[in-house]
Amino acid sequence: MGHKLIDAFNREIEYVRLSVTDRCDLRCTYCLPPDHHDFIEPEDWLTFDEIERVIRAFTELGVYRVRLTGGEPLTRHHLPDLAARLSALPHLEDLSLSTNGVQLRKQAGALRKAGVKRINVSLDSLQAARFAAITGGGKLNKVLDGLAAANEAGLHPVKINMVVMNGVNDDEIEDMVRYCIDRDFTLRLIETMPMGDTGRSASSHYLDLEVVRSRLEERFDLVPAVMPGGRSRHPASRDTGTSMYGGGPARYVQVAGTSLRIGFITPISRHFCESCNRVRLSADGALYLCLGQDDKVELRPLLREGISDDGLKEAIRAAIARKPEKHEFREQPQKIVRFMSRTGG
Ligand code: SAM
Repeated sequence: MGHKLIDAFNREIEYVRLSVTDRCDLRCTYCLPPDHHDFIEPEDWLTFDEIERVIRAFTELGVYRVRLTGGEPLTRHHLPDLAARLSALPHLEDLSLSTNGVQLRKQAGALRKAGVKRINVSLDSLQAARFAAITGGGKLNKVLDGLAAANEAGLHPVKINMVVMNGVNDDEIEDMVRYCIDRDFTLRLIETMPMGDTGRSASSHYLDLEVVRSRLEERFDLVPAVMPGGRSRHPASRDTGTSMYGGGPARYVQVAGTSLRIGFITPISRHFCESCNRVRLSADGALYLCLGQDDKVELRPLLREGISDDGLKEAIRAAIARKPEKHEFREQPQKIVRFMSRTGG
């Protein structure tokens, strides 16, 4: 049995983003429409047994990091139980979580005990009214309290994900930098992507992060940085300084004289498909091979028809061989009709 998943473009797939639900307790303007109700039916959700089986197969094929995401993963009941089962898999080295933070106060301790080590929390504004407007009525205080709970529970690093929108929250980036410096958080700035109608309308607020970086350079002394830790076996990371801690595409700088790292995630202005190392599993078991393409393989029918473990691994290998070379968010912004919450952000 091989221990690496290599796609047709010689990229090593080492990371699965696992959506445990497409539901969310917020309605961010760029993500889900306020009146959206077309969610995956619970009977179609992979059960924890099925998820564990799929992730075990992935880890036996070479994947060693998994991120729990959604939708809002903390809305799936008993998530810490799933986290404990996954973190017990012998080849899984890194279990992380992306959350909006709303329910983090209640769950941070249990998640940490279950083996989640680090988290990313979405936070687009530090102003209560603006936060509510962006998130469809979300309460900023809950998220800030959730972040404090994450710190208390020993989740580290905590990364703040901020989707930067021109004329919406780009005047707050400096405030966010200072907020993260004070709390020892990492800040990641993200360009809006044209996913679904919501993402496409938000793209009218698209801002090239190079512009943001130049603005920040007028205020802060920024030096190139790499996130520490993690394996550094991905060649692109060594060549480009891409972070391997998140195993991902952020290009980092550090604010001199502080421990703050700021990551720039630029799927639109400077895509990073050549170093893509991930696939996404939706709540109903569709394996999406690229965030910006429709290619997918449905694993749920295979699981429910009783496929063997070897058969499952073969299906995963065959899927990876079909991973597209790149997204076409710029060339074909109308292409992806599914919302980010469906694929697993
Ligand atoms: N609910 C969790 C959270 O808030 O982080 C995880 C899922 S959410 C879909 C994951 C990330 O996708 C969030 O940081 C969110 O801001 C981002 N996102 C959603 N739609 C997006 C879009 N159209 N463009 C850029 N980022 C988007």
